[in-house]
Amino acid sequence: MKNYEVVVIGGGPGGYVAAIRAAKLGHSVAIIEDRELGGTCLNRGCIPSKTLLRHAEIIEQIRKANSWGIKTGEMQFSLQEMMARKDQVIKRLRSGISSLLKAQKIDHYHGFGMVQENRSVIVKMEDSIEEIYADNIILATGSTPMIPSIPGVDKVDIFTSDTIFDLKEIPKSMVIIGGGVIGVEFACIFSSLNVEVTIVEMASQLLPNEDHDASKLLLQELKRRGIKCLTSARVEELYQNEQGKSVTLSLGAESQTIRCEEILVAVGRSPNLSAVRELPLEKSGPFIKVNEYMETSLPHIFAVGDVIGGWQLAHVASAEGMVAAANIRKREEKMDYQVIPRCVYTLPEVASVGLSEKQAREKGYQVKSEIFHHAGNGKAVAMDETAGFVKIIADERHGEIIGVVMVGAHVTELISEASSYMYLEGTTEELNRMIHPHPTLAEGMFEAAAAWLGKGVHSLN
Ligand code: NAD
Repeated sequence: MKNYEVVVIGGGPGGYVAAIRAAKLGHSVAIIEDRELGGTCLNRGCIPSKTLLRHAEIIEQIRKANSWGIKTGEMQFSLQEMMARKDQVIKRLRSGISSLLKAQKIDHYHGFGMVQENRSVIVKMEDSIEEIYADNIILATGSTPMIPSIPGVDKVDIFTSDTIFDLKEIPKSMVIIGGGVIGVEFACIFSSLNVEVTIVEMASQLLPNEDHDASKLLLQELKRRGIKCLTSARVEELYQNEQGKSVTLSLGAESQTIRCEEILVAVGRSPNLSAVRELPLEKSGPFIKVNEYMETSLPHIFAVGDVIGGWQLAHVASAEGMVAAANIRKREEKMDYQVIPRCVYTLPEVASVGLSEKQAREKGYQVKSEIFHHAGNGKAVAMDETAGFVKIIADERHGEIIGVVMVGAHVTELISEASSYMYLEGTTEELNRMIHPHPTLAEGMFEAAAAWLGKGVHSLN
């Protein structure tokens, strides 16, 4: 039986990053993946959706440009070509991961790994079964789309975020159940392709975990693009016959039925525990329980990424993978969740980091927040991207920045400046002293800090 110091189960951003770090730390490493390297993020998540969102962005820019004196005539869309480009992007990045693993001499088993109690792993490959032994195991098996128990859900052909990329034709209409991150991103993709999109969200706002002002502005912008957004809506039934599909929902005392060509369900993701069915692992709800060293309740077994719940973000999974790998020999690193940027790639984008005003108050901070609107930013006006703002949440006593929320063009890039300040415990005073180039969207951070200090020049507050 082959023996490895570290066996990683799952080749997504949690698993492959952990494998590479473990190998660089001198361990012999194997990685087991039964589908494609890159996991959900690369193959069915972040990367394909961001590729299609890039298409959506270009389409919207062309639409805008028509009113700027750049005439293009009617746009035509080929879903086939868009999906082909998406496949090219995935292929290129996947071969990159494969090369990185090879460079570190990591053995890649293309099969399904089943972990046994004695830390041997039975790997079922296409035409063989092999048993390997692991001194240490890192579980990075990810998650799968959650299917809600709505009457009719099993009788209707629905799409999930796993299957939506199999779509062959642009539908006329689509109902998206769930106005969380996946729901709003796909709403932007499909509405740019002239699909009549309705989002049905059971909470009282889109992106229920995000800042209320950010969610409000996003709602306004999605509506402006013609996306119908129903919040506080309860889906009662899904139905399908030869004429098409329908979603019946209740909005308070009112009931309505929406007919549509396609339905996308995006109501969260469940942990994938299929590799550890034989293990008596302690759980936290449905997820594998870990401590700050990413250790599970069983010795020498670590877990990272979506399978442990929490943020369910690719960059968090990678950070957890790095920590798990560092702790193989002995406890070296703790996972730090203080500064986790969260990015939603809608049009306009939403990004945040740190605490919300409510969370900060609960933690005992004396919260003072201030907003700078992009309408006062020269570059945003030049770009015709004024729907947006930067909100700084800081402690009134010392001005320490404890949270930042941004909406607008490119804020998923700009949020990293906020993360840096927060990581280094920066204050509004320091941020306001740092000269930002003009004209840039990044000036929004500087202006928000100035407004917070009562020194704002380009804002009325
Ligand atoms: P989510 O938790 O972000 O949103 C699910 C939404 O569905 C919630 O708003 C919830 O209130 C709603 N909901 C649940 N049951 C419902 C019902 N029966 N009817 C109507 N609404 C209902 O989950 P998601 O959008 O499926 O995304 C899954 C995970 O993937 C998330 O953790 C997310 O962070 C991650 N993700 C991240 C990104 C990104 O970082 N840009 C992109 C896509 C996905």
